[in-house]
Amino acid sequence: MSANFSFECLACCSQTKARAGVFFTPHGPVETPRFMPVGTLANVKTITPAQLRDTGAQMVLSNTYHLHLQPGEAIVAGGGGLHKFMGWDGPMLTDSGGFQVFSLSEMRKITEEGVTFRSTHDGKIINLTPERSIEIQSILGADVIMAFDECPPYPATRQEVEAATERTYRWLERCIAAHVRSDQALFAIVQGGVYLDLRSKAATALAKLDLPGFAIGGVSVGEPPELMAKIVQTTAPLLPPDKPRYLMGVGTYREMAIAIASGVDLFDCVIPTRWARHGTAIVSGTRWNLKNAKFREDFTPLDETCPCYACQNFSRAYISHLVRSQEILAYTLLSIHNITELIRFTQKIREAILSDRFIAEFGHWLNSPEPAGDDHELITND
Ligand SMILES: [Zn+2]
Repeated sequence: MSANFSFECLACCSQTKARAGVFFTPHGPVETPRFMPVGTLANVKTITPAQLRDTGAQMVLSNTYHLHLQPGEAIVAGGGGLHKFMGWDGPMLTDSGGFQVFSLSEMRKITEEGVTFRSTHDGKIINLTPERSIEIQSILGADVIMAFDECPPYPATRQEVEAATERTYRWLERCIAAHVRSDQALFAIVQGGVYLDLRSKAATALAKLDLPGFAIGGVSVGEPPELMAKIVQTTAPLLPPDKPRYLMGVGTYREMAIAIASGVDLFDCVIPTRWARHGTAIVSGTRWNLKNAKFREDFTPLDETCPCYACQNFSRAYISHLVRSQEILAYTLLSIHNITELIRFTQKIREAILSDRFIAEFGHWLNSPEPAGDDHELITND
């Protein structure tokens, strides 16, 4: 691992593969397990970096695909790089753009060289290759950069997934060759769809490479939750124990608890901010729709145990009023609360692992289904 990055495991659960550790980056440490908020366009929607800091955020994500289209990596570099441009001095991670190319773009054409697609921003034809993705991420300047991978859709045939998984490995070799900055850690991504033997084969091959971190990608793309759990349980333990493991695009309580029990350290998901913009709060693992009539005259905080600015200063009735009036402050307060809540969940798990009480305190999440709450919006990724 580059001298700028290291992972230290502080404690292991005696009953599962859960672990508590610290991932050191040039912009500071990341205590794991940890939920990472998503700042798609170099901002976490509706909140300032100071508010983001107060949620307990350590590492923050940004999306290469979106930043490449707007404002373009040259502007970000002109602004002093991603950290300075967006006013966040903590650790940052950029994805490779692969997921968005495969999920959002029309008219994409995949060849061995890379992907050609039409920009969702201005209709321009764009080529993205492993080398180009690494170059853009190098110009953006995050601490952790991701390998350019092919994320097959769900469902897909075994033949299609096998071809995408093998191509992802060949593209990783090209990403490693193109990677130049020693202050950036390149993470590899395990693909393999829902085929557990393909996942095992891919994870075993990647684990042989001396890389500073590993991710499990291509989950949360529409497969049933039980299948996702099997993928994570099969894949995570095959990845090197002395490196951080990151499950991409996952951020619900049960999915995170199951993944942590399998040895995963890092998570990201857009749900806390996306749900906030739909007037939804995450409270004790359930979703509350603040438009619900029962909140109109409820003058208690969203969650009395929550230390966030929204819970310390405002009532459910007030936030419900702001949501009904479509005031922007509603989305700010709910984003602050929802991000704080998901980070707190992973922090509490970390403390439980450190005192070997993970199963005693969080074991119920490993079996029970995710509570639906009163808001049934589907979870999707940006
Ligand atoms: Zn709160």
